[in-house]
Amino acid sequence: MNKLSLATIWLDGCSGCHMSFLDIDDRILQIIEKYDILYSPLVDVKEFPDEVDVTLVEGAISTDEDVEKIELIRKRTKTLIAFGDCAVTANIPAMRNRFKLEEVLNRGYIETARKNKIIPDQHLPKLLDQAYPVYHFVDVDLFLQGCPPSADLIFYVLMELAEGRTPELSERARFG
Ligand code: SF4
Repeated sequence: MNKLSLATIWLDGCSGCHMSFLDIDDRILQIIEKYDILYSPLVDVKEFPDEVDVTLVEGAISTDEDVEKIELIRKRTKTLIAFGDCAVTANIPAMRNRFKLEEVLNRGYIETARKNKIIPDQHLPKLLDQAYPVYHFVDVDLFLQGCPPSADLIFYVLMELAEGRTPELSERARFG
């Protein structure tokens, strides 16, 4: 049987979902029997591939750069998974949503800074007015809750997809 291709990406998240992915430990050997990992923070490839079977997207969409990335990923991915609560609901990054963007920037770069009290306006992605869940911008095929989702759950989902089945998550995945 041909292998599937797999990508993972880390947008506005803490990397905890990727750490949980690594917690599958030696079961990674079973994953790489089923998947070629084409793009990920775990492999040093800079360009998102033209075609990917499964992409795990960690994190909320919080900058103009995140929007560009998620739109490109959507075009190039067959099964896009919102990977963890930040991708599913915006979760922790959305804590800033009750404040205006200007207030957030002032708090981060002016009020709490000891030196160089400047809001950067060059060479950095621009923050959106709010942090958004992935589904706000693109269609999502599978929502994988958890902060982070457990290693067992990640392994289950990837193996089910590799076998051509739709993972049953209603009893397995939960928020938090
Ligand atoms: S869902 Fe939790 S573990 Fe995953 S990126 Fe967000 S805060 Fe981190």
